[in-house]
Amino acid sequence: MNTCIKPLKDIDACLMLIENAHIEKNKIKKDKLLKEINQDVGFYGLFNENNLIGMVGLERKNDNDYKLIRLAVEKQYRHNGYGEELIRYVENKAIFLGGKSISLGYKNSDTRLGQWYSRLGYIRQTVKKFGKEKEEICFVKKPLSDRPMLKPISNRKESCCVCGFPCEYCICNQIKEVEIPFDITMLMHTDESFRQTNTGYLIAKACKRDSQILFWERDVLNKSLEKLLEDKSKEIILVFPKDDSTEVEQMITFDEVIENRKKTVYIILDGTWKEVRKILRKTPALRALRRIELNGMEKTKYKLRRNKDLEHICTIEVAIELLRGMEEYGSVDTMKANFDLFIDNYSKAKTL
Ligand SMILES: [Zn+2]
Repeated sequence: MNTCIKPLKDIDACLMLIENAHIEKNKIKKDKLLKEINQDVGFYGLFNENNLIGMVGLERKNDNDYKLIRLAVEKQYRHNGYGEELIRYVENKAIFLGGKSISLGYKNSDTRLGQWYSRLGYIRQTVKKFGKEKEEICFVKKPLSDRPMLKPISNRKESCCVCGFPCEYCICNQIKEVEIPFDITMLMHTDESFRQTNTGYLIAKACKRDSQILFWERDVLNKSLEKLLEDKSKEIILVFPKDDSTEVEQMITFDEVIENRKKTVYIILDGTWKEVRKILRKTPALRALRRIELNGMEKTKYKLRRNKDLEHICTIEVAIELLRGMEEYGSVDTMKANFDLFIDNYSKAKTL
């Protein structure tokens, strides 16, 4: 089934879904939902083609704490992992927004639901009684990591929550580290961050000391990115192929930067072509940066994605070409080995 999660704007569809999805009629009124929407709550819908089949809300309590509300999946679509997908989606949103924890409440009598949340990493906090009937609501909380969780590659096997590979093919401890004499910042489109085929994380793990991942989300200004772009002590260079909008004087060559490598930060945009162009379009400060041209990018080894994604910039290959240009040949070999490991284990995991 071809499903996707996106911001939900249709209030009536929301109400209908909430009513259908709950066994006991959940008496939520339209004005209450509208109020929630106006109060810092983001609603996201799970769509199968154009049909809304699930939803979830994310409420911001303060800079650090977020709350998951109104999780619902249409009855006939349950037990397919959609609830988990919606939860992962809002947890990741909270991570992008700088959240440190996420909490939620459910009916204490629903022990199966309790076990499900516990499996997803939610820890029991308190039980409180509400309303005339003194209904017990159990509150649970989950600490959030600093990077989003990937969708597992195989739904049939237990997966590593860091690399997303089935545990038997987990690559986390096999990725070899490299030390590089410059910094890499990956500016990752939030949609990219969920993809199993994302290789940006591989770079981050391998260049642990010299790299960082910043997330780019439409309409949300990333403060760390802003700070980086204002830093006058470093030369910041955008790794991006020359295109029609690039002025010749905007391009920089490796000869020019190689001497000055310790003070250079390379920004690699991570996402599909469509996404990286959007990032550029919406971030004028990035457009103004000098750009470096990479050679040998035409042949890609990266065949993991379907046709529509073939245009994707395979981020690790960009990093490898960057290292080659900087004459860091040892790191080139290590990174290539990391990439081979990724491709190998990915293909094996896919056949499980
Ligand atoms: Zn792993």
